[in-house]
Amino acid sequence: MNKGFYFLGRGPNTPPKRRTFFGRAPRVYGIPISDWEQVGSGNLQSPIDLGKKHKGAFGRISFRYGPVPLHPARLTDRSLEIPVASAHPPIGMFLMGDFFELDRLQFHTPSEHKIANKRFAMSAHLVHHRHQLTAVVGVLFQVDKFNPGFERILDSALGNPCDPTGTQPDPVDLTHFIPDKGSYYRYLGSLTTAPHTEGVIWTVFDTPLDIADFQYRRLLGSMKSNARPIQPTNDRTIKYFLRH
Ligand SMILES: [Zn+2]
Repeated sequence: MNKGFYFLGRGPNTPPKRRTFFGRAPRVYGIPISDWEQVGSGNLQSPIDLGKKHKGAFGRISFRYGPVPLHPARLTDRSLEIPVASAHPPIGMFLMGDFFELDRLQFHTPSEHKIANKRFAMSAHLVHHRHQLTAVVGVLFQVDKFNPGFERILDSALGNPCDPTGTQPDPVDLTHFIPDKGSYYRYLGSLTTAPHTEGVIWTVFDTPLDIADFQYRRLLGSMKSNARPIQPTNDRTIKYFLRH
């Protein structure tokens, strides 16, 4: 079945057509059809607490990431944001076989999503697009070991004290921002910054990556706490997928 069928020529606020399947409840990108039917109702805001979860089986995801030039990072009052330069072939991910191109990275402190009521030190949001659809991958970070990829991003945003000429850093391999093990949550939500548009396909990995304490402090020195408060889950189903 082609999942993209639902969305050809449609905006993300148009609920997909209900279809029946043999032997299992209908889903789009692993999200129950009933959640898509809520799109536009204002009940699908992000972030949420990912505590209550339901096992899923069809959450196929894979990444075509690699070294990519990043545009200069900019600090806003809601995130540290880095636009991703377009690459050939494009950098992005496959959700159930459909390609979503990576558009930008955002970092928030503390993490915006919670897992079982726990926030993490930081989260990265990798924002992807396919036609009018938006799919964001959330990666949680804990303070532990040094993260060389994040150091490049800090240098780009805050200046590299070792290189005061301000030359652009080398391309960053974003593969290092995706946990190589662990499982992930999938649900239908919204952008966490204005205009908080709904219909966003969220994938949040449950395995945190590391940043060093001095990296975390360096970020906090420039960016105040900016996580959006937890939003009600309402009737949404949170699917939990084993990585494969
Ligand atoms: Zn974000």
